[in-house]
Amino acid sequence: MSTASINSWCLSSTSSAQSSLNKATLRPSVFARLSSSSPPPPPLIQNKPVFAAPAPIITPTWPREDMGKDSYEEAVEGLKKLLSEKGELKAVAAAKVEQITAELQTPTSDGNPFNPIERIKNGYIHFKNEKFDKNPDLYGELAKGQSPKFMVFACSDSRVCPSHVLHFQPGEAFVVRNVANLVPPFDKTRYSGVGAAVEYAVLHLKVENIVVIGHSACGGIKGLLSFPDEGPPSTDFIEDWVRIALPAKSKVKAEFGDAPFPELCGHCEKEAVNVSLGNLLTYPFVRDGLVKKTLALKGGYYDFVKGSFELWGLEFGLSPSLSVKDVATILHWKL
Ligand SMILES: [Zn+2]
Repeated sequence: MSTASINSWCLSSTSSAQSSLNKATLRPSVFARLSSSSPPPPPLIQNKPVFAAPAPIITPTWPREDMGKDSYEEAVEGLKKLLSEKGELKAVAAAKVEQITAELQTPTSDGNPFNPIERIKNGYIHFKNEKFDKNPDLYGELAKGQSPKFMVFACSDSRVCPSHVLHFQPGEAFVVRNVANLVPPFDKTRYSGVGAAVEYAVLHLKVENIVVIGHSACGGIKGLLSFPDEGPPSTDFIEDWVRIALPAKSKVKAEFGDAPFPELCGHCEKEAVNVSLGNLLTYPFVRDGLVKKTLALKGGYYDFVKGSFELWGLEFGLSPSLSVKDVATILHWKL
């Protein structure tokens, strides 16, 4: 089955008043409203509030003096020590270099064990011959700079590359990929990697759309639903990271707690996208872009089992009766 599902829900903004924005008191508040002629929404997105509040910002608990414990220099020293203690490793390393050099010079025939260097080399040769050399205008323009219309958050999962699934061409999408395609809340000390990407995309590249794309059978979301909500983590990074989407887990468990685990995962995969959309509202420059209507937020869901793609939007406006409150509308619409 390869046809994409198409949803036809419409968007409506609650207000166009924009003059009394008070940044200091902005707080995401999201609800859904469907037009009377709209077809029924999918099970997760309902004609009532659908959005969980952004995850709270959590202050790191480790002391800063410990942060350099596993520094690069110490890692290199450890490697040197290992090599000095195990002299035979030097011979192994030298042999490996020889092997790699030989592999670069000799094509691997079919049926040989997987050769990562050959794979990369052949991949690049194919790209160079079929794409780069055949599109001099495109790559000539890209050599001057980039002006992507989209910033995309997608999962690191090898099956869901957004450039592949959405046929983005080079220069079209500024992409961040991470486990479970999560956008953490604004936090300079904890999530500076994501913050830098959002800041650069919005303020410097001036992307017009930020799209957060979830997907079916997401291992990160499965982990989120499997890990205990509290207590010491059993992983170095994964649990702490996926807990960004705890509000989605709570909402889905409250609404579909009795459903089979795979079904819960499916609901949570979509709801986690909504949490990320809400978290984007905690970035001041994202809010500014939404208010000025130079920026739009969209959620997406790619189901690679069914071969379908859903898209929904989060429209942002200000309520005239609540002058310092920002209001967002989250709805599905036609692809
Ligand atoms: Zn995933």
